[in-house]
This record gives sequence, structure tokens and C-alpha cells, in this order.
Amino acid sequence: MKRLVLKIILCLGRYAVLPAVALACVIMAIWLMAMDRYTITALVTAPVVFSIFLGALALAIGLLLLPSRKHGNFEANEEIAPGLWAMWKELDRSFVRSRRTLLINTDFNASIGEVSRYAGLFGQHVTMTVGLPMLIVLDERAVRAVVAHEVAHARLRHTSGSIRLADFIAASENVFLYANPEWTITGRVIRALLHSMLEWLEKEYRALSRENELHADLGAAEQVGRAETARALVLVEACGTRLTDLVFAPLEKEMLGAIHAPRPPIERIVKQLADIRAPGPMIAAAAAGLSREHDPDSTHPPFSKRLANLGYADIPEIDEVGISTIEQLFSRDAATDLAARFDREWRKKAQDWVTIGR
Ligand SMILES: [Zn+2]
Repeated sequence: MKRLVLKIILCLGRYAVLPAVALACVIMAIWLMAMDRYTITALVTAPVVFSIFLGALALAIGLLLLPSRKHGNFEANEEIAPGLWAMWKELDRSFVRSRRTLLINTDFNASIGEVSRYAGLFGQHVTMTVGLPMLIVLDERAVRAVVAHEVAHARLRHTSGSIRLADFIAASENVFLYANPEWTITGRVIRALLHSMLEWLEKEYRALSRENELHADLGAAEQVGRAETARALVLVEACGTRLTDLVFAPLEKEMLGAIHAPRPPIERIVKQLADIRAPGPMIAAAAAGLSREHDPDSTHPPFSKRLANLGYADIPEIDEVGISTIEQLFSRDAATDLAARFDREWRKKAQDWVTIGR
């Protein structure tokens, strides 16, 4: 039952508040009909019925007022990233260029999302985001498996879940426009109800996300093979840990005592690439990942479970990492331009942080 409610919300997004609005309208209609026959009862219950109705009205009006989402990531067109676009096109059977956007951000990660405009009448717009650190650290083979995994998410319709859940939560919170939880009892009651509902919704959503990851891994394996998918999993796990140890953790430490913004992250990644990819420590990092305790709040299943899902009980032997993806799949100057651009933005933010921090 809970899973069914979650599926409906993930499917309808903000519009999933409409059943509550409809229910309030039915209550109002019944109340109006009862007015003639049971006048006294109707008058006594009037405050409750009107509260429910006005709350629902606020929900319905709020639906129209949800802010649109704007991203601050870098959009890479086909001139900047011809190879990555070609790879995406090859792996995605339903590829239509006008409905695809490729974004680059600063995470060691990749993700895919889709937005349906005008209730899906004109198809879905799919946005894939790939982190620059991933494009620098991983080779083309690994990124191919990552892209295949993201494409599988889209094909299996896992994509817009988190956006729709967030939309639903935002739409539900519109009820507070009418009933402020600080001043009104109705608001306080609604906040308590909403809070417990959102808690289980998020828990169910995390469980569903973990299942989706395993399905997307199998989808990727169908396209690029189990060995390549497992290799990418191992590299992402190991290089992620190496990046934290060699770049992000030291950077965080330096920030604490800094007067000036320290050397920015992308520059550090490029400088320490050989260390990050050093085979010995990388294998040790992958092995540590295998036995690491799993965070129950994670949207991703444990590393060992993902490998087992592909048929590996242990870390498979993997080939050395080849040339950086960004060198191979992007235009000639893209690597330097993107690095400079993100580092410049980071430096600005870091300088502010350091100055305010004193
Ligand atoms: Zn995934």
C-alpha cells in the first residue's frame, strides 16, 4: 500500500495533492447538502469544514505557484563534448537531440533526470549531468559504463522520481500559506501530519532508489557487458576514496586556517592524477569499500551488493586506467577551459568564505 502511494506520487509529482483537494471538495459538497436537513449540526461543524476547504484551496492555488528550477551547471554542447554526445547517442536507443541536455558539474558523480513539460504532451526532456572530476580521473571505458548506467535509469523510468517527490513536498507545504503552523492550530496539526507522512515517504523512496540502482547496473551490463560495468563500479569506488583522501579532505583542513583561498580542487586533481590512480592504493581503497559499513539512509546499495548483483563475490581484476575521458571525448581546449572556469568560481566562493570566517 505504502509503495503504491509512493509510486503514485512519483508519477504525478505535485499533482498528487489533487486527491486531497478533491476530498475536501466532496466534504464541502456533502456539508452544503446537509445544511437544509441538519442545520444545527452543519453550523456546529462549519469551522472545521471551512478550515479543510480553505486549506485545500491553498494547496490548489499553490500548485500554480511552484518556483521553476534553475541550474548553475555548465551546459556542454556538441562542439565542446563531441565524443561524449556520440557515446550517449550510441547507448540511448530513444535519443532525440532536441530533447537532451548535457551538463557538467564539479562532483565525482553522474546523474540523469527528466522533466515532462505540459504534462508530458511534448515528450520528455532528459538532462544528464557528469562531474568534471569523473571525466578527468576515469578513462573512456569507465565513463561509457557510467553513461550506460544513467541511460538505463532513464529507460527504466527511474529518472524524475526525486524531482517529483520534491515537487510534491513543496506543493504540500503550500497549505501553510493558508494555515501558518506558528499561529494556527490547523497549521500545527497539518505540520505534524505532514511531517510523519514525509518521513515514511522518504524512507520508502530511499529503498526504491537502492533497488533502482541494481536494475540500472544490470541495464548497463546488457549494453557494455558485466566485466566493464564491474570495472567502472570498482574504479568509481576506489577513485572516489582516493579523491577524498588526497584532495577533498586536505582541502577542507586547509580552508579552516586559511587567510587566502587555497589552491582550488580541480587544479589539485589534475596535478595529483597519477597518485589518485596509483594501482596499489586504489586496490586497497576498493577492498576497504567492500567491507565498509552501509549507511541505511543512503540512496545507493552497498558496493559489495552491487558487485554481487553483477555476479562478483569479490573485487574483479581490472585493467589500468587509460587516458582521461576529457582528453579523449572533449574538444581540444575544453579540459583546460572547464577546469579554469570551475576553479575560478570556487576561488571566488572560497575567498568570501575565508573573509567572512575571520
Ligand atoms: Zn544510478
